[in-house]
Amino acid sequence: MQITQQVEDWFNVNARYLPWRSVDTPWGRLVSEFMAQQTQISRVAERWPLIMKRFPTPKEMAINEENELLLLWQGLGYYRRAKYLKAAAEMIANDFKGEIPSDIDSLLKLPGVGRYTSGAIASIAFHKREPIVDGNVHRVLCRIYNKRDESVAGTWVWNVAKKLVENCDSPATFNEGLMELGATVCLPKSPRCELCPLQNDCEAYSLGSQLEVPAPRKRPKKTEEFHYSVIMQNGENLAFQKRDEGGLWSGMWQVPTVESKRSLNIEEVVKELNLNEKLVQIGSFTHILSHRTIAFTVFSSKSEEDSRFTWINKDALHELPLARAQRKVLAVHCTA
Ligand code: SF4
Repeated sequence: MQITQQVEDWFNVNARYLPWRSVDTPWGRLVSEFMAQQTQISRVAERWPLIMKRFPTPKEMAINEENELLLLWQGLGYYRRAKYLKAAAEMIANDFKGEIPSDIDSLLKLPGVGRYTSGAIASIAFHKREPIVDGNVHRVLCRIYNKRDESVAGTWVWNVAKKLVENCDSPATFNEGLMELGATVCLPKSPRCELCPLQNDCEAYSLGSQLEVPAPRKRPKKTEEFHYSVIMQNGENLAFQKRDEGGLWSGMWQVPTVESKRSLNIEEVVKELNLNEKLVQIGSFTHILSHRTIAFTVFSSKSEEDSRFTWINKDALHELPLARAQRKVLAVHCTA
């Protein structure tokens, strides 16, 4: 039996329940693809229904404030994805009459959509014979052909994926099945070859080289940072500032914070924020991200209202999009 048929048969029996699979609309698929970049699928599966309930169509997302989406995105990280999704929804509403385009060239015009996402939408939502290569597909294909040094973006792996999807029965089932096989069976460190439908076709399995293929990527060393967050309180109001667009926690809100590559003393924090108030250290914690480790020190102060900041009543904090690190900062304040 062909590889493609084996993957499709396997997926038809073994597909996990994921909410966007049962609804199966192009918009639902597009939202799930944006959310799943760099985020565990179990967390995406929890949050996706809430986002779809609030924004059942691209138009609903296009006409509402970005803050509403960011609030629902809290804790998923990589907030730029939410901004791209909002911008893509606006383009779909304005330039594509509210319908998700089905061809690769149009899909590639959408903000935040690259080769992988356009292929995923075209093939899975519209059944076009378009290839997709994500980390999972890359691993499975490299192992089947025992290719050690191919990159995810490389020509070889895309050519193989293209050839396979051109010869499969259902592009949607095959592409999604290959990703699912990589996500649940052909695991990076402990492939479950005994459960794999491709065992007899897999060169890496027959050579016993699964764990060396593909060659492990060299991960950049985590950088170390120091963030000093000051909870400035005036009566029932707390001071906040919006982060710049782009970069870490793009466009999210935070209490006034000094960020440094080196450890600072309290006088330096006061000077950086140009404060007159006395600061009291109330806690600290370490926040770990994929590429950096951040040592947070949290201070509090009783403050006059300062027009450089936005003052938010404590009861309205749930209306403010905050990254997980800032939730931790506020938790320090609550327990202090
Ligand atoms: Fe991956 Fe093992 Fe299947 Fe080969 S046989 S594709 S290494 S799970």
